Amino acid sequence: MTDVQSTPDSPALENLLHETRTFPPTPAFAAQANVQAEAYERADADRLGFWADNARALLDWQTPFETVLDDSAAPRYGWFTDGRLNAAYNAVDRHVAAGNGDRVAILWEGEDGEQRRITYGELAADVARAANAISALGVGTGDRVAIYLPMIPEAVVALLACARIGAPHSVVFGGFSAEALHSRILDAEAKLVITADGGYRRGGASPLKPAVDDALAKGGTAVEHVLVVRRTGGDVAWTPQRDVWWHDVVPQASAEHEPVWVDAEHPLFILYTSGTTGKPKGIFHTTGGYLTQAAYTHHAVFDLKPETDVYWCTADIGWITGHSYVVYGPLVNGATQVIYEGTPDTPHKGRWWEIVQKYGVTILYTAPTAIRTCMKWGEDIPAGFDLSSLRLLGSVGEPINPEAWMWYRRVIGGDRAPIVDTWWQTETGAIMISPLPGVTATKPGSAQTPLPGVVAEVLDDAGHAVGNGQGGYLALTEPWPSMLRGIWGDEKRFAETYWSRFPGVYFAGDGAKKDEDGDIWLLGRVDDVMNVSGHRLSTTEIESALVSHPWVAEAAVVGAADETTGQAVVAFVILRGGDEAADRPDDDAEVVATLRGHVGQAIGPIAKPRSILVVSELPKTRSGKIMRRLLRDVAENRSVGDVTTLADSGVMSLIQQGLAKPA
Ligand code: ATP
Ligand code: MG
Repeated sequence: MTDVQSTPDSPALENLLHETRTFPPTPAFAAQANVQAEAYERADADRLGFWADNARALLDWQTPFETVLDDSAAPRYGWFTDGRLNAAYNAVDRHVAAGNGDRVAILWEGEDGEQRRITYGELAADVARAANAISALGVGTGDRVAIYLPMIPEAVVALLACARIGAPHSVVFGGFSAEALHSRILDAEAKLVITADGGYRRGGASPLKPAVDDALAKGGTAVEHVLVVRRTGGDVAWTPQRDVWWHDVVPQASAEHEPVWVDAEHPLFILYTSGTTGKPKGIFHTTGGYLTQAAYTHHAVFDLKPETDVYWCTADIGWITGHSYVVYGPLVNGATQVIYEGTPDTPHKGRWWEIVQKYGVTILYTAPTAIRTCMKWGEDIPAGFDLSSLRLLGSVGEPINPEAWMWYRRVIGGDRAPIVDTWWQTETGAIMISPLPGVTATKPGSAQTPLPGVVAEVLDDAGHAVGNGQGGYLALTEPWPSMLRGIWGDEKRFAETYWSRFPGVYFAGDGAKKDEDGDIWLLGRVDDVMNVSGHRLSTTEIESALVSHPWVAEAAVVGAADETTGQAVVAFVILRGGDEAADRPDDDAEVVATLRGHVGQAIGPIAKPRSILVVSELPKTRSGKIMRRLLRDVAENRSVGDVTTLADSGVMSLIQQGLAKPA
C-alpha cells in the first residue's frame, strides 16, 4: 500500500483538474423524474425513516419489520432485522400477482443471434421449477450454491431459484479459470455448482464445464452435484451420479413452489470483488437491506418507468453490477430489460448499437472501459445506428474521464440524455454516489452527490472532513441498508480492511476530492496515489488530461520509483481511431512530446509524465478495470505480480516488449 501519511501542509491528494461544464436536466426530464429534490431533505431529516419507508414501499414483506437499524454489533450492522421476506418472490411472483405476468422481463439476445423473450409469468414458473429441482438435488436453506454460467436467461433463473429456497449463491464469472473457481467453491463450501456446457464469446463456443470438472478434480470441495445447462451443444465429459442436465430435471419439475420466507438478515449471496488491487475478497450480502437499496437506487438513478422503458445494463452477472442492476434491482422494480450474451465486437463493432436500435433501448448502463473502447474504434460506428430511443445513460466501474463522458453524451446520448456517473463497490451493494437525473446539473467526470439516505465524506489523514476544493479519502460515515455484512469466513480481514483506517467509519479505499460546489470527484485508488517531489497526485486527473487530447482514447498512469523526485509519473496511452487520428504524426516520439506538453498545460508541470508509452492494450481485470499495479511492476522493471484476475495475460508481455524499445 502507498504511504498515506502526509505532512500537515501537504494535502492528502492534490486537486489539479478544473472542469467547469455543467448540464442541468431539461425541464421536460425534470418534470417526469421518479425522484425529486425533496428526497434529499426527507432523508436528511430522518434517514432511518426514509429507508424504512422505501423498504415498505418497494418490497413485499411476509412479516413486516419494526426494527430499522440494529447497530448493537457494529460494524456488523443489521437492517429491518425482525422482518421476513423472500428475494425471488419480490423479483418475480409479486408482479404476476399484481396482474403484470404478461409483461416482458427479459429480452435475451445470444451472441449467435438466437433470441428469447421471457415474460414475468414465464420467469416465475421457471424459477419455481428450478427451485424445486435444486431442492431435489439436496440443496437446503442456508446451503451455498456456486454459479458459473454465461449470460443466458438460465443464469437469472439460477440466482433466483437459490434465493427462493434461501440458499446463498456465489456467482463466479464465466471467464475465470478452474483455479479461481476451485478457490471460490472451497471458500464458500458450495454444495452444488450450476454451469453450462459453454457459451458464445468472440464468435465461437467457449467451454465452461471442463473448468468445473478440473476445479472439482482438485478435491477438497463439498460439491455433491453439478447441474449443467445445454447452451452450445458441445461435447462434455460426464461424471454419472454427480452431473445432472438442467433439461432433464428443471422443465419436468412442478411450477408450484412455496418460497422460503427468510429473516431480513439471511445471507442472499457471496460475491468476490474484481481483484483490481489484490486477492479478491468474498463479500457477503443479506436480503432485506440489500434488496431495498438495490431497488431504490435503480428507481431513483435510472428513473425506470416499468411500463415504457427498455433497460439494458451490459454488466455480466459475475460482477456486483450484474447482481444489483441486471437481477435484483430491475426485476424487483418490474423492468423490461435486454440481456446480451456476447462481446461488443461480434460479429461487428456496432453490435451494441444494433441491439439498442433493435429493441428500442431507453436506458443504458455500462462502464468507462466500454466507452473508451468505442472511442478508440471511432464514432462513425455508432453513427450508423438509430440511437434516438436512449433517454438516460449510466456509467460505473472506474472514474470516467471528462472527455469520455462528453463523447458518451454527444455520440451515444445525442446531446440529450442525462448521464449518471455512479460510484459504488461490491461492498456497498448498491449505488452510493450519483447524480439524480431529474435534479442534478451534471458535471463531466464527477459522481457528485451521495444519494438520499447515504452519508459520504472526503477525509484528510487525520480523519477530518476536507473543505471544498480539497482532496482526501472517501469514507461512508453512516451505515446503509445494502452494506456488506462481512468477508465470508474472515471477520478479522473485514474489520482491518474497512473499519480500521478511520475507526467507526467505512473506508472505501478510493481517493476523492470536493470541488468548489462540494461535489465529489473520484480520483482513483488510494493504493495508486503517486508521490512526486512531495506532491500526492491521483492517477485519474492525469489520465483525464491525457484523454482530453483528441488523439488519446485511453490512458493509465502509475508512479515509478525515481532517484530525484521519489516517484515519477509514467503513462501508458492507447490512441484513437477514426477521424480524430487524421492529424496525428506517424512518429511516436512526436506524439509523446505533444502529449507531455498537453498534460503540462492542462493541469500543471508537476503532472507531466516522465515517460509516455504508446500501447495497443492495457492490462485489465475481467470486469474491464485497469490494473495499475501490474503497470507499476513494468515501469519499475519488476517481475509482474499476481495476474490471476487479468483478462488477457498476453497484454503484459506486449507492453514489456514495447518498453524494451527506446521511446
Ligand atoms: P478489489 O477490491 O478486489 O481490488 P475492485 O475494487 O475493482 O476490486 P469492485 O467492487 O468491482 O472491485 O469495484 C469497486 C471500485 O471500482 C471502487 O472502489 C472504485 O475504485 C471503482 N469505481 C466504481 N465505480 C466508480 C465510479 N463511478 N467512479 C470512480 N470509480 C469507480
Ligand atoms: Mg475494491
